Amino acid sequence: MKYGVDEHGYYGDFGGAYIPEMLYPNIEELRKQYLAVLEDDDFKAEFDQLLKDYVGRPSPLYYAKRYSEKYGTNIFFKREDLNHTGSHKINNAIGQILLAERLGKKRIIAETGAGQHGVATATVCALKGLECVVYMGEIDMQRQAPNVSRMKMLGAKVVPATSGSKTLKDATNEALRDWIGNPEDTHYIIGSVVGPYPYPEMVARFQSIISFETKKQLLEQTGSELPNYVLACVGGGSNAMGMFYHFLDDEDVKLIAVEAAGKGVDTGHSAATTFLGKEGVLHGTRTILMQTEDGQVIEPYSISAGLDYPGIGPQHAHLYKAKRAQYASITDEEALNAGLLCCQLEGIIPAIESSHALAYLEKIKFKPEDNIVICISGRGDKDLDTYIKHFGY
Ligand SMILES: *Cc1c(COP(=O)(O)O)cnc(C)c1O
Repeated sequence: MKYGVDEHGYYGDFGGAYIPEMLYPNIEELRKQYLAVLEDDDFKAEFDQLLKDYVGRPSPLYYAKRYSEKYGTNIFFKREDLNHTGSHKINNAIGQILLAERLGKKRIIAETGAGQHGVATATVCALKGLECVVYMGEIDMQRQAPNVSRMKMLGAKVVPATSGSKTLKDATNEALRDWIGNPEDTHYIIGSVVGPYPYPEMVARFQSIISFETKKQLLEQTGSELPNYVLACVGGGSNAMGMFYHFLDDEDVKLIAVEAAGKGVDTGHSAATTFLGKEGVLHGTRTILMQTEDGQVIEPYSISAGLDYPGIGPQHAHLYKAKRAQYASITDEEALNAGLLCCQLEGIIPAIESSHALAYLEKIKFKPEDNIVICISGRGDKDLDTYIKHFGY
């Protein structure tokens, strides 16, 4: 694949594994084993069965009739919001728990910011009866109390990270420290297409089910498996990578990745990584990230917790630089309005992350015969308070 990973773990200039020496054994074990496990028939059979019976896949490809009328074209929603636990994150969590089992791991750790990845990880640990420890910044635990309770109900131990800014990056440091101390029995589940190789590749493969299904569904519904446009929102980039994966080599399909502009790209309160960022190393991978002149990571901001990340996965950095995909950004305000429009035109309350992708429909001039697929990465129940506060319902 022209846009795929090379044998050294790089996508063009991006990727690799920039890790402290003490993590080397853990990453090396994964790198040597993950492909053989993923290609094993027994693994594939169990992954497919759980995606079908536990997650509820395939997720529908829904022709959004009133949206199509409004924009004068043909718009399809890929409904990841209908998955068990309410987003695409469960696809990756299931893939990684099955991998961990086959590597003989008995204990799972994860880091979480808003708690969505922590909940997905706690869910699959309950499913498999594995011990689960989730690191979360102390401040995030206060801000996201319902997700902390959810994780506890699911049997996970939630450990507060009390150093630094007491948020995601501190939780990540704690998780890494744990992993270094427990390399034999512990697997670290990363929640997006970020981190050192092989994580970005592994997570992209688990999420590629999204575009795999979409091709088949489009063929059935339109007579062609290729749409004109594919849109998805990007935090770390896992739902977008899953949505793009099987279209990467179909160069006529326009791929659009939508980042969070926050309050605006020039306000200092933004998470529009490709617009504001430069090349550098973040969380073990060479990519594009928001940083100061002297290389300090800039705190990102977005109203949606899932898009509030200062970098993007290395494959996205490559697709951006190679101009295979177009990277755009949408403000908080535009996203919230798009979310409300989706409620009222289609009866679907989308996650605010997904609303960013929906909002970009306003910015494109479509032809009546175009087919557009947009990834609805999650449902908006978790965001009701934010929507309500903004619109005053
Ligand atoms: C976490 C999350 C995202 C952002 O993560 P990606 O890895 O960029 O997909 C987007 N949408 C929802 C609903 C999420 O929970």
